[in-house]
Parts: sequence; structure tokens; C-alpha cells
Amino acid sequence: MIQAMLAERPALDAKKFQNPTVTAKGEARAAVALAGLRTLWINTGSLCNIECDGCYIESGPKNDRLAYIARDEAAAFLDEIARDGLGTREIGFTGGEPFMNKDTAAMAGDALARGFRVLILTNAMAPLWQKRAAVADLARRHGKALALRVSIDHFTKDGHEAVRGANSWAPMMRGLKWLAGLDVTLSVAARQPVGETEAETRAGFAGLFAAEGIALDAGSPRDLVVFPDMDAARDVPEITTACWNILGVDPDSMMCATARMVVKRKGAAAPVVLPCTLLPYDHRFEMGPTLAGAGGPVHLNHPHCATFCVLGGANCSGGD
Ligand code: SF4
Ligand code: SF4
Repeated sequence: MIQAMLAERPALDAKKFQNPTVTAKGEARAAVALAGLRTLWINTGSLCNIECDGCYIESGPKNDRLAYIARDEAAAFLDEIARDGLGTREIGFTGGEPFMNKDTAAMAGDALARGFRVLILTNAMAPLWQKRAAVADLARRHGKALALRVSIDHFTKDGHEAVRGANSWAPMMRGLKWLAGLDVTLSVAARQPVGETEAETRAGFAGLFAAEGIALDAGSPRDLVVFPDMDAARDVPEITTACWNILGVDPDSMMCATARMVVKRKGAAAPVVLPCTLLPYDHRFEMGPTLAGAGGPVHLNHPHCATFCVLGGANCSGGD
């Protein structure tokens, strides 16, 4: 229902999302406090081997606005988590396509060796295929503590390739089946197209998994994460402090209540911390170079906060 409403919206009102603490109507903007740093996302870089329609991070073979983060830069944040006892349980890797970064397998190995769970988002195409020896080695040493989530746009080849481009299905399926043979925690992330119900999306994936012999339960949100397909350029309401009660949404369920993301901007001397994976390019959301400085509240001053999080319920990452 919310999706149908959002799909019919006019273009975004330029007066909205300007003041960090006050909405265009003069109401107090909602903010989210950090309840605890459960997950630290490392953005490995914005380059991707393909260019999908509607990629929220605008990745592709030419977008290097987020540089490849280096192993020692990522390790400095793991050191900080240990030194300050932040209690972080999971390190996530997202891009772009994480396996485009030559250090990703080593960075994942560093995190696993320190006892973190690791989640890597991937399109499972050629960059993963080229790194499969390193991934298989991590799987042998760390098993289920290593999780990989493969993005598939639709359960049909045509639907997937309409977004991801011609000839993107077969290499993805080769990578997915290879991963399914490892002793890792595997999941799939899918988009739910406008006009298709979540039940239809899950039923379609159930058929695909059965046909391809992939042991994932399409009915389980753990095995199949379904994200609503929404256009962030459309108008959305700003989120005020009153919205939580009106909508019945818990601020602690927002990604920025339990996560942060580290990015290395092109040409920057060092990485910077952001509140979540969804706002990689908006400098207004930068929280400084360390986790210690990134513990403050996040004002929901971006259309994505409304579209993807508060209204859309997509409190997990995008990108791959
Ligand atoms: S959606 Fe994923 S695979 Fe597609 S361009 Fe973006 S990062 Fe790459
Ligand atoms: S996009 Fe979502 S997770 Fe990111 S700051 Fe806004 S509400 Fe928080």
C-alpha cells in the first residue's frame, strides 16, 4: 500500500530536506540516536563491473567517487572497536562490487580472525569468480561466520537483465551456485518490483531455488531479503519527531541506530564515517574520521530516510 502511494508521488519539493533540525513546515525533524554499533560497514569502493538501472549508489565501471579502501585503513577501525570496547559483532563489506577491491578478501579475513561475523554483498559475477580461491580459503577457515549475500534483481532472467544488463544472468547464477556449495552463510537480496507483491516475489524465488538446486528458503527473510523498489527522486514527507508514534515505527529499527559506514572518498587522505550505507555522497552526513566521533544522533535530513527507512522499511543496505 505504502509502495503504491509512493510510486504515484510528484517530484521532490526543493524546500524539503534543507535544515538539519527543522522541516520545511517548521516542525522538529526526527533524529535517531546510536543504540550501539552492532554493524560496521566498510565501503570497498564505488566501482562495479556492471551498471544497474536505479543503483542507489550509482555504481558502474566509471564511478570511482569512492576509492578502494586499503587493508590498513579498514584495520584501523577494527583496532578502534577493540580499544574502545564498542561491542560490534559484524563487519559488512559493500561497494560497488566488493570483489573489485584487491584487498576485500584480506580485509574480510582480518575481521574474521578477530572474531567478527562478516557479511559481504556481491553480485556474484566475474570479480567474485576471479577471487574464488581466496573466498574458498576463508570459507574453510571460518565457515558460517562468513556470510555472502548475492543481489538478484528478479527471479526471471529477463527481469534481472532488464535492470542489470544483457548477459548478466548466467555469470551471476554461476557464482551463486558456486557459493551454495561452500560452508558459508548464503543469502539473496532481491528487489520487489512495483506491481508485484512480496508473496509473489518469494514464490518466484522459491521456484528458482528449487530449479537450480540452491538450498535457500525463499519464505525466510534471513535467506531472501526483499527490498521495495522505489524512486528516491519522488516527493516524500519529511519525518518529524511526531512521526514515530503516528506511523508506529521504532527509531531503533533504523540502520543508523545500530550501524555506521566507513568510506574513502576519491582523493581524500583518510576514510570518513557516515551514518549508514544509503547516503555515501552527501557530505552533510559526514561524522569525522573515527568511530569515537561518530556516536552522535543522526537527523533524518534526506529523502532516503523517509523513502527507504521510515516509510519503506528497508533498514538494510543496498549496493552490492
Ligand atoms: S546494484 Fe550492485 S551490481 Fe548493480 S551497479 Fe549497483 S553495486 Fe553494481
Ligand atoms: S537513510 Fe536511513 S539509515 Fe541512513 S541516516 Fe537516513 S534513516 Fe538513518
